[in-house]
Amino acid sequence: TNHRWDSIWLAGLKDTDPATIFDKIIAGEIPASVVKEDDHILAFKDINPMAPAHILVIPKDRNGLTRINRATPEHTNILGRLLVAAGEIAKDETLGFGDGARIVINDGPDGGQEVMHLHLHVLGGKKLNGQLG
Ligand code: IMP
Repeated sequence: TNHRWDSIWLAGLKDTDPATIFDKIIAGEIPASVVKEDDHILAFKDINPMAPAHILVIPKDRNGLTRINRATPEHTNILGRLLVAAGEIAKDETLGFGDGARIVINDGPDGGQEVMHLHLHVLGGKKLNGQLG
């Protein structure tokens, strides 16, 4: 069998969900205020900030992770990378963060998720109250 072709076919099967606006940001087709980037993750300012500092952290390769409830053990590495990046952003005073932040993942319609490409919200720049939802 043609193993190279097989692997391409399998890769195409991994992420068959519709593209989102975040794909255009990753591709550089629409501008974003990027604050952190490596081979695996991209972080940029939310266009409609809900706090004085509001950064989104996303995987460059969505790989089926439209939402966190699609996570499987195969996503363990990227999920760790996203959290590490979020923690680094959350203490970056140049981005407006003080001593503390809130990291949020909205999951699906009932969780208020609008963009179906997994993203972590890093919110801060003011003292947040202790309430969720
Ligand atoms: P969700 O509601 O958790 O899916 O969050 C989606 C977030 O993406 C919202 O906070 C939006 O303001 C943000 N957003 C949507 N389009 C853009 C964009 O083009 N640039 C930056 N942020 C965006």
